[in-house]
Amino acid sequence: MVAISLKRKLSILADAAKYDASCASSGTTSRDSRDGTGVGSSGPGMGICHAYAPDGRCISLLKILLTNFCVYDCAYCVNRVSSNVERARFSPAEVVDLTLSFYKRNYIEGLFLSSGIIQSADYTMGQLVQVVKTLRQVHDFRGYIHLKLIPEASPELVAEAALYADRVSINIELPKDDSLIRLAPEKDAVVIKKAMGKVRTGIVAAKDDKSRARPPKFAPAGQSTQLIVGADEAADGDILSRSETLYGAYGLRRVYYSAFSPIPDASAKLPLSKPPLLREHRLYQADWLMRFYGFTRAEIAAPGEMLALDKDPKLAWALAHRGDFPIDINRADRERLLRVPGLGVRSVDRLLALRRLKRLRLDDVKRLAGSLKKVQPFILADDWTPGALTDAPDLPARLPPEQLSLFG
Ligand code: SF4
Repeated sequence: MVAISLKRKLSILADAAKYDASCASSGTTSRDSRDGTGVGSSGPGMGICHAYAPDGRCISLLKILLTNFCVYDCAYCVNRVSSNVERARFSPAEVVDLTLSFYKRNYIEGLFLSSGIIQSADYTMGQLVQVVKTLRQVHDFRGYIHLKLIPEASPELVAEAALYADRVSINIELPKDDSLIRLAPEKDAVVIKKAMGKVRTGIVAAKDDKSRARPPKFAPAGQSTQLIVGADEAADGDILSRSETLYGAYGLRRVYYSAFSPIPDASAKLPLSKPPLLREHRLYQADWLMRFYGFTRAEIAAPGEMLALDKDPKLAWALAHRGDFPIDINRADRERLLRVPGLGVRSVDRLLALRRLKRLRLDDVKRLAGSLKKVQPFILADDWTPGALTDAPDLPARLPPEQLSLFG
């Protein structure tokens, strides 16, 4: 093999890592690599991505693959064995050196490390463990580490990785098991779920371990996964159904949604066009409704059903359930207030706090929610009743255009 420079390796392996959304801070960044630009691209600042730490801080991570060689042939992946891309491989020592040197120069606050599978799952996992173990034990590296786990690797290696990483993730990639069989023939949904289950057990055991003053850390920032949207025929309801199971059964901190994006040398098994990026955003909004707003998946989308693209899922639910509105902001409990379009979690908590001191008027809501236009048709306040507005047939058209954000 022709030797390539460290800089070239970094360029290739940072570019190859950008398809993994599971440390992304947003679902709306373009990941089409064909123009060589974008977060984690091979352009300036290559390999640096932004993610949210468990305490909510936005942090910069060096996001790279150990190698983009891979013996698997997942149709949706640019690194699959049959893909005609330039390949590179870091040694564990090179990743350690790069991480330390970027960290010491304050370019990054941590590392996101993944890898294609070389030789075997155990061999690759062993190399990844070597990186994180060396960083922590030899160099006392205190930065954040997000490490991808290889589900087929031995449980001992996976458990060892979790001792050194803050967050671990195993990508389940496809919402339906039969899609996984068709598009990722070497992967096995049962093996993936079993590995996630073991990680969950390890996390819970470490938290419950009161036998020592300082029990060993085990992925203290939890585990996450990624689902690719639009690479198979799964509807949004199917995708959310998978997420609901993953949150419930494996205690995942996050499910990331990654709109299938064009890859060079794409497999013929993939659709010709990519899904609208807005679809990914709607899934993130629906995911938030399940995690923070008390909605069940069944309330948001049934299996086989798509989310509306022209309105956020909370507004879509409210418009379809107008009989549940208006909600009296001076009497309703938190759960009901969280159903009001335009009221986010923070606004609701502030409203509840203010309500202890006084009766709420429309001005109070405006101050706390920022805007009244979306809220007004759905609430009663001391000085406001929406009258027929709540049920007006043209209400959707009267509402202000959406600002793309994760609620209210
Ligand atoms: S295992 Fe599949 S998804 Fe992962 S790098 Fe290899 S081909 Fe890509």
